[in-house]
Amino acid sequence: MSHKEKPPLIWVNVLLFLVSFACAVVVAPWYGYQFGYSIEHWLWLAITYSFCNLSITAGYHRLWSHKTYEAHWSLRLLFALGGAFALQNSALHWSSDHRVHHKHVDNNDKDPYSAKRGFWFSHIGWMLRQYNKDSYADYTNSRDLQKDKIVMWQHKHYLLLALVTNIGIPLALGLIYQDIWGMLLMVGVVRLVLSHHSTFFINSLAHIWGSQPYTDKNTARDNAVLAVFTFGEGYHNYHHIFENDYRNGIYWWQYDPTKWLIKSCSWLGLANKLRVTPKIKIEKAKAKKALTTASNKISMLPNAKQLNEALNEEFEALVSKLSDYYELKKQLVEAKKSDLVKKYEHSVLLLRYKQLKKDLENQRRSWNSLVAQYA
Ligand SMILES: [Zn+2]
Ligand SMILES: [Zn+2]
Repeated sequence: MSHKEKPPLIWVNVLLFLVSFACAVVVAPWYGYQFGYSIEHWLWLAITYSFCNLSITAGYHRLWSHKTYEAHWSLRLLFALGGAFALQNSALHWSSDHRVHHKHVDNNDKDPYSAKRGFWFSHIGWMLRQYNKDSYADYTNSRDLQKDKIVMWQHKHYLLLALVTNIGIPLALGLIYQDIWGMLLMVGVVRLVLSHHSTFFINSLAHIWGSQPYTDKNTARDNAVLAVFTFGEGYHNYHHIFENDYRNGIYWWQYDPTKWLIKSCSWLGLANKLRVTPKIKIEKAKAKKALTTASNKISMLPNAKQLNEALNEEFEALVSKLSDYYELKKQLVEAKKSDLVKKYEHSVLLLRYKQLKKDLENQRRSWNSLVAQYA
């Protein structure tokens, strides 16, 4: 597309991003050099930054866009306020865009922030021009959200809420701590710029930089470094294949504070119906991805046919063992719940389960060492 054909600029956005960025990198450090920031400035920067980002990740993203759990109205209200504070448009608009992103991921004509259009476009460029003018207020893919009173209230009063939070909160803190300019800069501007760009990285970097353990059907990547800045959203390859899972980092050692927040809220009775992907589906996806990678490598070798046959055999064996194991595991759980199953039946089941578990472990080991040769 030549420059002339580009749609007109959205000046409000251009100026907002430009001015806030300039203030954050020039004015805020200069002010700090001149007058200094106290521990309160840094503390409130961290608190408000976390509030904004978690409202986006746990609220806009995992609750509203993907319905991975249900939340109490008080939590939804908090997310609606935090989302307006984060200045990323209304939850309705954000979610509608995001659902299109998932449905048409990497499609340059349909995905609103397609990573295939490059880093700049997917990071911020897509918001600087009227790329989606015709479908801007089309929320037909979010009819469910239109039934959420808090979503609609926030959508209707978005501008007012955004102004009140973005000016009111830093101003109030400035009055409390007797440094209005310092708080306006740190909690107002620096917080906003950090929050903006860390969120934008999920559309740009998380589609460019990282590994693809689950699927290579789209550009989404898993990236542990990004997960730190994005409150757990860096595990984007997993997220794009299992978008209905309330977790993005599924292992205990993966950094996903958004998941921890949702889980904690469920213990407090503020969240329920947390959705997780069955383990067998996750493992199968991973094995399938490894199979594709290995097949591609093998196809370049002289004895490709033979090797490929052996590989596929091993894959089938793994999948069948996986099915057997998880099926029996399910039976065992059900048997535990019901008193009807006799004791000896239960012990037979348990014995078979232990055997299958061992078989599966061996199978996994042999599969992993095989695909490791062609990784
Ligand atoms: Zn998503
Ligand atoms: Zn994505």
